This record gives sequence, C-alpha cells and structure tokens, in this order.
Amino acid sequence: MVLAQDSYDDLTIRRYSSPNFAQVNSYWIETAEGIIVVDAQLFLSQANYLRNEIQNNTGKSVIAVLLTHPHADHFAGLPILAEVAVNDLSIYASQGTYDEMKNGNGGRPLTDLKEIYGNDFPNPEDIPLPNRIVENGDRAAEAKPHRFEIGGVTFEARVMENVDSPSSTVWILPEHNIALVGDFAPDRRTPSLRGGTSANYLARLKEMRELLEEKEIVKAYPGHGEPGTPENLIDQTMAYITYVRTQVETSLVDDAELSDKESTEIEASIKDRFDLKYDTLLLPRITEINLRAIAEELKADKEL
Ligand SMILES: [Zn+2]
Repeated sequence: MVLAQDSYDDLTIRRYSSPNFAQVNSYWIETAEGIIVVDAQLFLSQANYLRNEIQNNTGKSVIAVLLTHPHADHFAGLPILAEVAVNDLSIYASQGTYDEMKNGNGGRPLTDLKEIYGNDFPNPEDIPLPNRIVENGDRAAEAKPHRFEIGGVTFEARVMENVDSPSSTVWILPEHNIALVGDFAPDRRTPSLRGGTSANYLARLKEMRELLEEKEIVKAYPGHGEPGTPENLIDQTMAYITYVRTQVETSLVDDAELSDKESTEIEASIKDRFDLKYDTLLLPRITEINLRAIAEELKADKEL
C-alpha cells in the first residue's frame, strides 16, 4: 500500500496502490463537495482500504468514480465505493466501457473471476454500471458530454476504441495540466495487446502524445506503476509495442507461423530488454497471449 500525493494549486491528487505485484492504482481528488475517485481496484479488501483511507483523511463522501477502462482490476471494487456515496454514486465511463462491463469483461467472464477469487470478489450482479456516459469532443452530445465539472474540477474525456482494451478513456484535467491514463500508457507493465489491434494502439498513442503536449500536461497518472511525464509513459508503451511487433514480424518471415520456440525466445528477449516490474495478476501468460494476438494481426494484414 502506498499513499502518494501531488498538489496543483487548489487541487490535491492522492494515490492508493494495492500491495500485490500487479500494483493497481486508484486515485482520489478532494473537492469541497466530496471525493472523486479514478478506478476502483480489483479486490473488495483493497477497495475497502481505499475507502478507509479516504474516510480517515477527509471524512468526506465519494461523489463520483471515473473509470479508465472495462478490465475488472479497475472496476470490481465499485460496490464498496457505492456504499459510502452520499446519494446515488455518479460513475463516469465511455459507452464501450459500459457495454463491456455489462456483457463481456474482454472475454474473461466476471463469474470466472468470482470463482477464482471467492469472497474477495463481488457478485457480478452487485457491481454498479456507469450512469454518466462520456464522449470525445466531435461525438459529444448533451447526454454524453466531453467536458464536464465535478465539485468545481473540470474534466475532459478522450475515448479510444480497440487499444489496451475495447474502450479506454484518458481523463484530462485541463485546468491543472494533469491526465489520468489508466492502462493505455502504464508504467513498467506489459500493455495488453490481446485485442490484436496493436497498429491502431500505436497510432492512438502517437496522437495522445501530441494532444497531451498541446494541452501542456505535466504529469500522467497510470493504472499500474508510478506516475510520470506523459512522454515517458507513452514512449515506454510505444517502445514495447514496436519491439514486439518487429520481433513477431521477423519470426513470420520463414514460414508465416510463430512457433512455440520463437514465441519463447521473443518472450525471453522482452524480459531482457524491458524493466517490467508491475506485471499482471489477472493474466499471468499475458506476454504469450500478446505475441499470439500480434501474429494473427500481422498475418491478417498481409492477406489484405
Ligand atoms: Zn489494469
């Protein structure tokens, strides 16, 4: 458990990190009206620690939760946060996040996770769904805002499809020059490439790097690992994806297949090359899964 804090004029952001090796970050921002939380932890016990820290430090209620993406390590603790909300908790997310939470969880059914984690995981039907849907500027409407205010703090949503998850949102605080980037640009952690959309993911990372530079964002807060500059987090993620794509592409040259041997060799070279400290708890074979997904993606590209 880590309690870190950064202050920006009138705003303080604090971080709660789960102590297991996946280090799932939740962030919380205190406003006059109450507490805004970004991401809700995987385990009920961890969401409970988060809730206690908020209560012990502020005595205030949680008024809103913002979700970065629909993977269970970022939303399964929601029932605990909903318990301490004043009225109905406002849960902000993209439409794609809502849809995945309701129907999919990216191919890992919540009932399976309940079976694995038992009492430390909620009954899937007890997880509240997002009730405030957000959109990008060009697609925003009254019911789906792009820019909004909670407790006097302005937020902007940047929604991207088919990146580290089917729908990922970067939350920008334009008046404070910070951004919460979720697992779109994690720190020293294997990015999830299992959707087979690494080319799109790279393009969106490049765009986001430019956008955050344009908005003069000085610090980015990731879903795993340590906060850093947007350039550092985005460049780590781009370097990983670019390297892995190149390695897989090379292995496809001779016979258009990624053999088990080639996969194992690439996996070892990734371990040598990248300092991946906060690796995932939910998918222990994530590297192998990523390599297979990229092989399929590159093969499909060649057939076009
Ligand atoms: Zn995560």
